[in-house]
Amino acid sequence: MNILASMIFDVHSHIKQPGSFQILQSNGAVLEDSFYSAGIHPWKAANFKSKINDLLKLAEHENCIAIGECGLDRQTGPALGIQQEALEAQLLLSEQLQLPVIIHCVRSFSEIVQVRKNLKPKQPWVFHGFNKSSLLDKLISEDLMISIGSSILNNTSLQECLNQIPNQNLLFETDNSDIEIKAIYQKAAALKELTLQELESIVEQNFKRTFKKWTIGSKEQNCY
Ligand SMILES: [Zn+2]
Repeated sequence: MNILASMIFDVHSHIKQPGSFQILQSNGAVLEDSFYSAGIHPWKAANFKSKINDLLKLAEHENCIAIGECGLDRQTGPALGIQQEALEAQLLLSEQLQLPVIIHCVRSFSEIVQVRKNLKPKQPWVFHGFNKSSLLDKLISEDLMISIGSSILNNTSLQECLNQIPNQNLLFETDNSDIEIKAIYQKAAALKELTLQELESIVEQNFKRTFKKWTIGSKEQNCY
């Protein structure tokens, strides 16, 4: 008998859900009862320089296990050049603090890849909210982690490309959705013809390898 309860990981969420290990998105405050990510969203990049010190304090807290979400968004927010500066400042912080990055990317994929080529970061990057199958090859060749959210439930092109994502690149998230992370895992397991337990074990390894600062036990209220 397996005495360990199964573990389900939700790598990026704005909504607290019981029943999983979550990385909650901080809104600017330290979260005392949860692991969290801290970053300057590209929509709010306008005067990022005045926010970097606060971000550093948030990011140095023991509960902060990732930088982000940060990135580029061609659809919303200030000029791309400003967003790019804000992103690069945070990527440097990620390297300095040895924290992985949760990347937000809307219609600016080639710029993200270029930044990665230039910076050659040591820390893992998690491409969050992945839903565009056409980007997959490039993401894999750049060795980004790929986090899939609730769109796996109804986006057929995403469903069709799931099996092309190497197991070791795969993560899941709920983001803004109130869909349970377990439903996302269940759908993905069915599409991959794995049992839920098999998928959990794959993602658990990926999670622990990516978010090295995460430790079991200290955030019991988030335990499954
Ligand atoms: Zn988000």
